[in-house]
Amino acid sequence: MKQTIRFGRVFGVEIGANWSLLVLILLVAHGLSTVVLPALAPGQSTTAYWTAGAVCGLLIAGSLLLHELAHSVVAVRAGLPVERITLWMLGGASVLGGEPASARAAFRIAAAGPLSSLGLGLAAGCGALALSALGAPELIVSSTWWLGSINVVLAVFNLLPGNPLDGGRILRAILWWRTGDPDRAEIGAARAGRVLGVVVTALGFAQWLSGQFAGLWLILVGLLIGTVAASESRAARMRVALGQIRVADVMAEPGVVAHDAMTVDQFLAGIVPGLPEAAYPVVDLDGRAAGTVELHSLVGIRRSLAPSTRIAEVRTPLEDVPLAQPTDLVADLAVRMRQDALALVTESDHRLVGVVSRRDVARLVQGAPLRPTGQEPYPA
Ligand SMILES: [Zn+2]
Repeated sequence: MKQTIRFGRVFGVEIGANWSLLVLILLVAHGLSTVVLPALAPGQSTTAYWTAGAVCGLLIAGSLLLHELAHSVVAVRAGLPVERITLWMLGGASVLGGEPASARAAFRIAAAGPLSSLGLGLAAGCGALALSALGAPELIVSSTWWLGSINVVLAVFNLLPGNPLDGGRILRAILWWRTGDPDRAEIGAARAGRVLGVVVTALGFAQWLSGQFAGLWLILVGLLIGTVAASESRAARMRVALGQIRVADVMAEPGVVAHDAMTVDQFLAGIVPGLPEAAYPVVDLDGRAAGTVELHSLVGIRRSLAPSTRIAEVRTPLEDVPLAQPTDLVADLAVRMRQDALALVTESDHRLVGVVSRRDVARLVQGAPLRPTGQEPYPA
């Protein structure tokens, strides 16, 4: 999820939001001001309802941020860097800079989010009772009560046992602890996530068909759960198949390399006849990786244009090419490669040091033996 706005850093974690967070805030404000609050606290002006609705929308975004921050703080304490937190339409996402070191750490990181939502929910509930006792306006009491209940719902929903929900992460930590194998535990939690995705989507449909708009939301969430779970399951299977093999072990020397300044004609003339590759690396004038070109797209350039078209104009730019460093795991690269024919291996200064083709990875997956399951004791 792309960050459209950056708010700054908290605990060294970059906090930002995607524009779609606005959709969430507006939907919450709309639903509260037109349906929920008029029912809970009747007899107020439209302005009052909309003001309360907008404040609650913003506070919901704040609640999501606190939920994600709770994950992050526990992760940072466990020695795991957290790159960023992005809030968006369907909630928040924390990008961790690695894997928890143990099942226990994974459990704590996962449980921190729902616990904070539950805490917020209880605090808001107590706050609403106190405000009511002090004789605060009904609109404020109802809004506070609603905020509390939504946070409790958020905690409970997130605890559903399937990846990528927190409940799935907790399930994975438990499976990891019991089997000693984080990747097989991930496959189990991802499988549960795929089932959960189907169930949530189906519930959403049922709700939508019964005339409730919120059903659409649930359908989106269900589809997201299913999709993410499927890709996480693929990644975990890849890790099981490829184990600890590093990119340096499988990368090939970059053979034929295209230069940004070459014309398509010049490059095509230099390819070894009879030994064409599906794609070639491209470097810039300083020898740094600049992207890739696919042979079929070069051949597709009309003959009359080939002498005047530069490789720089037709290459796939570096930001769209799967990249790896020699010490990276092949399994992680394989997940990033998807449909790409070629991945580039660079040093930290972007100097091209090797290439990995999809064909090589596919061969490796077919031929590689399964990694033996290591028994890791649960840390005391
Ligand atoms: Zn969470």
